[in-house]
Amino acid sequence: MSDTPSYGFDTLQIHAGARPDPATGARQTPIYQTTAYVFRDADHAAALFNLQEVGYIYSRLTNPTVAVLQERIATLEGGVGAVCCSSGHAAQIMALFPLMGPGRNVVASTRLYGGTVTQFSQTIKRFGWSAKFVDTDDLEAVKAAIDENTRAVFCESIANPGGYVTDIRALADVADAAGIPLIVDNTSATPYLCRPIEQGATLVVHSTTKYLTGNGTVTGGCIVDSGRFDWSANDKFPSLSAPEPAYHGLKFHETFGSLAYTFHGIAIGLRDLGMTMNPQAAHYTLMGIETLSLRMQRHVENAQKVAAWLEADPRVDYVTYAGLPSSPYYDRVQKCYPKGAGALFTFAVKGGYEACVKLVNALEIFSHVANLGDARSLIIHSASTTHRQLSPEQQEAAGAGPNVVRVSIGIEDAADIIADLDQALTKATA
Ligand SMILES: *Cc1c(COP(=O)(O)O)cnc(C)c1O
Repeated sequence: MSDTPSYGFDTLQIHAGARPDPATGARQTPIYQTTAYVFRDADHAAALFNLQEVGYIYSRLTNPTVAVLQERIATLEGGVGAVCCSSGHAAQIMALFPLMGPGRNVVASTRLYGGTVTQFSQTIKRFGWSAKFVDTDDLEAVKAAIDENTRAVFCESIANPGGYVTDIRALADVADAAGIPLIVDNTSATPYLCRPIEQGATLVVHSTTKYLTGNGTVTGGCIVDSGRFDWSANDKFPSLSAPEPAYHGLKFHETFGSLAYTFHGIAIGLRDLGMTMNPQAAHYTLMGIETLSLRMQRHVENAQKVAAWLEADPRVDYVTYAGLPSSPYYDRVQKCYPKGAGALFTFAVKGGYEACVKLVNALEIFSHVANLGDARSLIIHSASTTHRQLSPEQQEAAGAGPNVVRVSIGIEDAADIIADLDQALTKATA
C-alpha cells in the first residue's frame, strides 16, 4: 500500500504502511511484542549496526508495529518518513534535537499548548537551547526574531487552546527565506483537516495521544519529515550535513538524501534519547487512525453547532471558535482549513473564575480532564490547570485567561452536548 499515494485519504488511513503479516497472513497488524530480533549471521548484524542495511535490531530503535504506524502517519501527512516516540512532548524534543545545540534558538508562536510553552521557555534551557516567542500573525516580528542562531520556526496549525489558526504558507515563506525549517504541531487539526507539508512546512509533529488515537487510551508522538529541506545548503545543521563520529564519519544527508532527518531520528535520536513508542501504543493508535476522517467530520460538525449555540447564549461572553463567522480567523479557515476549524475552542463565562469552576463541576457528559481529542467531550479550566505555570500575561497571550474554559467537543449527539452545557451554565451563573 505504501507505494500507492494516489489512493484517497479514507483508504490510506486504513491501509497505508500495512501488509498481511508475512509469517501468518494475519490481516490486522500484529503487536510485535519483542525487544530484540535475531540476526541472520554476524555479517548481517554488522551491516545493520553500520547502517549499511535497514532492518530490525532492538525495539528502542525500530519495531514492526511501530513502523506501520510511522508509515501510516507519514503517508497521511504527505511526508517521506516519520519517527514515532513516547509522547507529543518527546516528539518536540526529538524534532529539535538534530537542529539545535548550545546557544541556538527556536522562534516559536505565542499561541501554543501550555505544556509546550513551559517546555520551550524553561526546560530546553538545560540543553543550552532557548525559544523566542512571537505573534506569528506579525510576519515582520517573526523575521526580526530570527537571528544567526535560530534553527527553526515552530507553530501549531490550529492552536490550542484559543481557536486560532495559523497561515502556514505565510510562515513557511519566512522560514524558507531565512534558510531554516518550519515545524508545525498538527495535533489539533490532524492531517484530515490540514496537511502542513503541502503548505510549505519542513517537519510536522504530533501528539498521537489526541485525535490520531481518538479514544484517550495511550500517549504517543510522531515527527514527520517532508524530505524537502536541504540540510547541506549552509553549515547550520552539522548533525545532518557533517561527519557523524558515532558512525565512523558517516554524513546523514549525503548518505540518506531525503531520508536523512528520519534516519537521524532513529539512529541517533531514539538510540541515545530513548523516547521510544512501545508496540502496544502503536497498536491502539493504528486502531484509532482507521476512523480518523469519520471522527474528524463529526467533531467539526458538533463543534460548529455547539459554538454557534454558546455564542448566542447570554450567559456566555464570547466564543473563540475559528469556524464562527464572528471569528477574526474565519476567512483564513475558508482558505487554509476548508474542511473545518477543528473541535477545540474556548469560551468565556460571565461570572469569571468562580463561574468557570462551578461550570466544570456541574457538567455531566463532559469530563473535566487535561486532555483533548477524545471521542468524549472534554472540558478544562486552563487557568487553574494546564496554564497554571504561566504568568498572567502568558495566559492571556495563549487565550487562557481566568474567565475562560477550553472544550474539546466529542462525537456524541450534539443535542445532548448542548443540553449538558445548558444545565451546567444555569448552575454556574445562578
Ligand atoms: C497534548 C499536546 C502536546 C503534548 O503531547 P503529549 O502526548 O501529551 O506529550 C503537544 N502539542 C499539542 C497541541 C497537544 O495538544
